Amino acid sequence: DDLINKIAAGEVVERPASVVKELVENSLDAGSRTVQVALEGGGLQRIVISDDGHGMGRQDALLCLERHATSKLRQLDDLQTLASKGFRGEALPAIAAVSRFTLHTAEPDAQVGTRVTVEGGSPPQVEDAPPRVGTVMTVEDLFYNTPARLKFMRRGETELKHVEEAVIRIALAHPEVSFLVEHGGLPLFTSPACPGDPTERIAAALGNDVYPHLFPVEERRLGITVTGHIASPEYTLPTARGIYTFVNHRYVRDRGLIGAIQRGYQEYLPSGRQPLVVLFIDVEPHAVDVNVHPQKLEVRFSDSRGVYDAVLAAVVRTLRAAPW
Ligand code: ADP
Ligand code: MG
Repeated sequence: DDLINKIAAGEVVERPASVVKELVENSLDAGSRTVQVALEGGGLQRIVISDDGHGMGRQDALLCLERHATSKLRQLDDLQTLASKGFRGEALPAIAAVSRFTLHTAEPDAQVGTRVTVEGGSPPQVEDAPPRVGTVMTVEDLFYNTPARLKFMRRGETELKHVEEAVIRIALAHPEVSFLVEHGGLPLFTSPACPGDPTERIAAALGNDVYPHLFPVEERRLGITVTGHIASPEYTLPTARGIYTFVNHRYVRDRGLIGAIQRGYQEYLPSGRQPLVVLFIDVEPHAVDVNVHPQKLEVRFSDSRGVYDAVLAAVVRTLRAAPW
């Protein structure tokens, strides 16, 4: 079982950024309004994720470290709808198999909380802990017991960049949640909840200088909506890394979607320059196949032509209407 967990870990846990992604998504699934991420050594030494979500009772706190112990898959139908981000029940056991792992959690109004500790996939140690709001997950010495994996890790700085990018992708899709990220005790990314104005989140995540250049996008068609913000062609980037696309609020990186966006900008941008775009494409759950492999970011639409056209139209219409 330990071996299975270690193998599963290789799938789910590629680097510190994948740990952060899985844990932050769990925090969001738990209804958190604030998520804090504290890192040491690019996340290789320590990752601490604190949330104010609904927490867990003792039984669930133990159960969540067993494989396939997801609480989110009530029926097969859920697999298709992907209502919540996580649904595989693999992340926590996989992370705990390759780190020194602690979780501290409690249910609302509980008199006592729970602390569970796992060392490199060892049997969980449980103890009483102070009650608290929400959950704290601590992941130390990632990959200490899988030296082959550890060898692939880059410098802390590089790992930190990946962590930052992982948080940004999630934060862009959740302006209603506050995010605080720090490294070595210094703030790295701080963005209070801004449900009324997602452009504040975009500015916090992607650079304050883009703020005045952002224009809202809205394209509603039968079964497809495209919303979000795009920057005017005055604001350009040297690479396509400023193009963020989300399908049903999951970050994806899909050639077709990026191609449609670039096509829409084509006559507006100087050659070699790329736009800044944050687009949300929402379709019926059954009209999209999000590859369930944790590391893959591709999607397949049943009507890919229709999605392409809608995205292209959304961009072109916004660029034509925008006043510059
Ligand atoms: P999944 O997210 O696919 O269900 P995970 O291994 O990521 O699987 O988490 C297992 C379970 O642990 C979740 O289904 C949830 O019930 C519980 N859980 C994990 N993180 C949290 C959290 N921050 N707050 C409350 N419950 C959590
Ligand atoms: Mg999860």
